[in-house]
Amino acid sequence: MVALRKLVWIEEDRFRGWGCSECTWVFNPSGAPTGKSLDQSMRNFELRRDKEFTSHVCAGSPKSQSTRGEVKQDWEKLYRAAIIEPDRSKVLQRVEVAEAAILERSRSLSSSPANSGKEQEAITRALHILSLLRAKAGD
Ligand SMILES: [Zn+2]
Repeated sequence: MVALRKLVWIEEDRFRGWGCSECTWVFNPSGAPTGKSLDQSMRNFELRRDKEFTSHVCAGSPKSQSTRGEVKQDWEKLYRAAIIEPDRSKVLQRVEVAEAAILERSRSLSSSPANSGKEQEAITRALHILSLLRAKAGD
């Protein structure tokens, strides 16, 4: 059971952030991330998140995707992969792959606008973060 759990990004009305794919655990950072730069703050945030995730004990019965009320889209996986990519030389490539997936998803959303407002918001935010990553990768 432990082997299957993953750290996943959760988008809900009452919660937005990182959580466990197998239980209701979520990462609730106390206080603002610390660090001298954005880069370092992100690092510290990720370290703390990963540490807490690794040490939490999955509680209760496994939840299915549907209890979250949303099916995770592929672009979100690619987007997360870009954010957590530790190898700087690969970041740009991951950003490009994620952006392509997001743009494709965005196109399909615009052809079926029903119930897509929230995801469209997430997409806008994701594209912004990816543009920051892209700028950083180009340093
Ligand atoms: Zn868990």
